[in-house]
Amino acid sequence: MEAEEISRLDREHVWHPYAAVHSTAPAQVVRRAHGVRLTLGDGREVVDGMSSWWAAIHGYNHPRLNQAARDQLDDMAHVMFGGLTHEPAVRLAKRLAELTGLDRVFLADSGSVAVEVAIKMALQAAGPGRTRLLTVRGGYHGDTFGAMAVCDPVNGMHHLFSGVLPQHVFAPLPPAGYGTPPDEAYLADLSALVGAHAAELAAIIVEPVVQGAGGMRFYHPAYLRRLRELADEHGVLLIADEIATGFGRTGELFGCDHAGIRPDIMCVGKALTGGYLTLAATLCTARVADAVGVLMHGPTFMGNPLAAAVAGASLDLLAERPWREEVKRIEAGLLDGLAPAAGHPGVRDVRVLGAIGVIEMHDPVDVPRVQDVVLRHGVWLRPFGRLIYTMPPYACEPGDIAAITRAMVAAATSRTPR
Ligand SMILES: *Cc1c(COP(=O)(O)O)cnc(C)c1O
Repeated sequence: MEAEEISRLDREHVWHPYAAVHSTAPAQVVRRAHGVRLTLGDGREVVDGMSSWWAAIHGYNHPRLNQAARDQLDDMAHVMFGGLTHEPAVRLAKRLAELTGLDRVFLADSGSVAVEVAIKMALQAAGPGRTRLLTVRGGYHGDTFGAMAVCDPVNGMHHLFSGVLPQHVFAPLPPAGYGTPPDEAYLADLSALVGAHAAELAAIIVEPVVQGAGGMRFYHPAYLRRLRELADEHGVLLIADEIATGFGRTGELFGCDHAGIRPDIMCVGKALTGGYLTLAATLCTARVADAVGVLMHGPTFMGNPLAAAVAGASLDLLAERPWREEVKRIEAGLLDGLAPAAGHPGVRDVRVLGAIGVIEMHDPVDVPRVQDVVLRHGVWLRPFGRLIYTMPPYACEPGDIAAITRAMVAAATSRTPR
């Protein structure tokens, strides 16, 4: 098909994420993806600064991941998981249990479903009367109803579904900055809030250290440590949503590692299959699993063998690659490359943690304009709200990171005819 025809059919028939049917900004056609580059409909090659929503950590078309998919395809693409099991699933579960220190693994088919399962586990384990969750503002946990209810009530979608979503307990936004010394007043307020609601709480759910789609904010690990202490003190479970932060993105294997804590329940997704297939997992301790009993959940494509096999291969690759050094090098490249944007009149903040680089503007960004600027710099990014940000593949070379940061700085500092 010609690129024009793909675009035309797309405009006529296809929904895109968070988009109106008559979107003014047409989607770019992608022909191929290889390494850290996408080949667009017009033949242009651009560096992918998004890792396809933070998933493709090893880059695209990786020979090892391709081989894992092919090998598995020759055995079976899928079988139901009710009453049946297979090697890719049990291998992956064992691997995830070893990596997280948690005991039991539920293989879900997307991040949002993993969060639904985590909430369900917590409610079933907590028993009657404990029906609410506590979280912090500024979070993002997915687009299904259970997950939406714990997303930030203002920048999330609560206004569209008010009266439908369960009312959970929200603590204020954690004070900004990974390195900003913890605010004692905030910690005291957090303790008071958990104390006041403890009897009705099943769980506390947060994204550890980095709040992703809710605003790309970083916070001090002390707040996470305090939540762990409060959960223990009040017999409330702690759910860590590591869907964005898992597998090295923040510089540690998991966000919880920054705080040296282990959650009772953990969700992983996004980078789990190296960006190949949709798969997520909800893990919990043996204690939680015993309290739950029969977990009332079971998606049709649960434990999909293809996805599980590719996830296993992706975790092998992660274990082999010097990801800590790579993420450190990317962090240094982002700090260096984004520095020129700091202090520019339109720029409110520039921040970097691990392989995450953010330019926060004072005003909402004009997405089509920013995309036009960065594409002209040979880079693909998808800004949102006031944020121009990158979460590049770990496979990026220093030159790729430099291209991404140049594009971001150009988009943030060029004059904006809005
Ligand atoms: C992306 C994301 C989700 C939702 O995952 P999907 O696979 O898009 O359903 C949940 N929590 C966090 C922290 C995420 O970043």
